[in-house]
Amino acid sequence: MHKLRNLLEKIDGRGYKAYKEIRGSYKFKDYRLHIDHVQGDPFATPSKIRIEVPKSRTIIKEEWELTRERKIRIEDTIARSVAMAIQDQDKCAGGSGMGGMITIDQPGQEVLERTAVNLSSNSIFICLSIGLPAKGRTVLGQQAEKMFSVILPHIVRSSVYSLEEAAVLETVKLCDQQTAIRDYLKKENLVAFVANGSVLPRKSGINDRPLNVDNVVPFQSPGSLEVSITLPHRDTPITGMGIKEGVTLVVGGGYHGKSTVIVAIERGVYDHIAGDGREYVLSHNAAMKVRAEDGRRITNVNISPFIKNLPFGKTTSNFSSENASGSTSQAATIIESIEAKAKVLLIDEDTSATNFMIRDKRMQQLVSKEKEPITPFIDKVKQLYQEYSISTILVMGGSGDYFDVADTVILMDQYKPHEVTDKAKEIARDTATGRDIEGGELFGDIDQRKPTSASLDSRKGKRSKVSARGLKTIQFGMTDIKLDYVEQLTDPSQTRAIAEILHFLEKKNWLENLTIAHLLEKVEKQMNQKGLESFTEFPNQHPGDLARPRMLELASALNRLRTLKINK
Ligand code: ADP
Ligand code: MG
Repeated sequence: MHKLRNLLEKIDGRGYKAYKEIRGSYKFKDYRLHIDHVQGDPFATPSKIRIEVPKSRTIIKEEWELTRERKIRIEDTIARSVAMAIQDQDKCAGGSGMGGMITIDQPGQEVLERTAVNLSSNSIFICLSIGLPAKGRTVLGQQAEKMFSVILPHIVRSSVYSLEEAAVLETVKLCDQQTAIRDYLKKENLVAFVANGSVLPRKSGINDRPLNVDNVVPFQSPGSLEVSITLPHRDTPITGMGIKEGVTLVVGGGYHGKSTVIVAIERGVYDHIAGDGREYVLSHNAAMKVRAEDGRRITNVNISPFIKNLPFGKTTSNFSSENASGSTSQAATIIESIEAKAKVLLIDEDTSATNFMIRDKRMQQLVSKEKEPITPFIDKVKQLYQEYSISTILVMGGSGDYFDVADTVILMDQYKPHEVTDKAKEIARDTATGRDIEGGELFGDIDQRKPTSASLDSRKGKRSKVSARGLKTIQFGMTDIKLDYVEQLTDPSQTRAIAEILHFLEKKNWLENLTIAHLLEKVEKQMNQKGLESFTEFPNQHPGDLARPRMLELASALNRLRTLKINK
């Protein structure tokens, strides 16, 4: 600490570059400070530091780290407490640019595995970004000293050293319960669980917090779909709606809450924090939202299960497009999801291509099958389950033709679900759609594609350029990967992680000779064994702003890469 103080005194008033001298490790009273990266000027990406706190001096108990899930939860809890302590802190006068700024990669409503806080066997590492203070481009040594010797110690004291045992224990308990529900889903072949009392609607389209409870109809499962799950840390079992494998149809009038349910299920691949309203809404971890995305690129996908005989004889068993239509994009996204091991498809009519979803009797009469390349999803959804064990949850208020193929029909009425399977089946019996079934007996093959290593080229001019811009864009060399319609990507830190992984795949030449499915397996294995940070350039120095993406989202990025090339 004294050494750092002396250094700062020495460089006070010098050019900003002089800050480079403070790189290194310093012992403070309550922790060790590692200054890993020093920014080049006040306007550049902030400097990166790690705070290393001895675990033995905190209330963290060994049993709280018994499972991987618990460890992630504790890290998340610490990250939140640090974020809160930073918020409570008066901003230090830091001068120009980012000077004085202190940030941690702050978690949102979901609990994700992150690199911001890392529990090792003896220490807690907390990764922070800070803006080193400057006046113009001159070092403000005194302000920097205040940051390091007053503000940071205070943040550390009022976060990781002020954790309350009872509060941390609550997060561990919730973690155990969420894990228990996930185990139950697996054991009982359910694809999703929505607990009674859950609050599903969000504040707004751009605010992921729960809608004010006064305005909410809490979720209440129909009796026939109700399941009760015994959970740890509570006396009575939790009750709610269990959605079985197979084809589930969600119907109901407009504005009656259909999309809200499917979005909650979509998000249920992640655990949520207490108070979110969806903490007991959990779904199969390989549930994949699929939607239309006209304009996206498609690279050598066999979409022939859905689309055949395009005009001018364009092939569909090896289909590519720089500018897909709504229906071809949705078909390709489904096939790619299966290739990447999705087990549940989530589809909302609001974001689907109509001609991909339905083709009714009258249309079949007017436009004969030879003239319609598309076999609608309705003729494929059952085969997907029978042949590939892939379930579908489908929001469809606009066509009763789906009654024939649904295993379960849920009607949303004023935000309350009712099971209406029998009634729907009765209607289906009494009023035949008259449709001809299209597309043959079998779903069709899913090809396993092998990308070539030339697919990933991060060069831009003389340098390599890979970076995430917000939640939905990755710049990779000369091209942008657009992820706007990859709806389960939930945190910009996941996007950053995907960018890092893609860069890693390029540098290590992992693309050559692996199918996409194998590639994803290999990435996931390394992630489990060596951590997310192992994909970064300096895994031992501040990898602090990454969150774990699912392999399905990594595949989505790869599939949207405009330079993707497939080995023939
Ligand atoms: P649909 O897809 O059936 O047209 P949405 O799911 O889009 O309906 O919901 C319509 C509106 O109702 C949205 O603004 C949503 O936030 C709100 N909403 C959804 N579920 C509830 C609920 N349980 N309680 C109160 N408002 C809700
Ligand atoms: Mg809707």
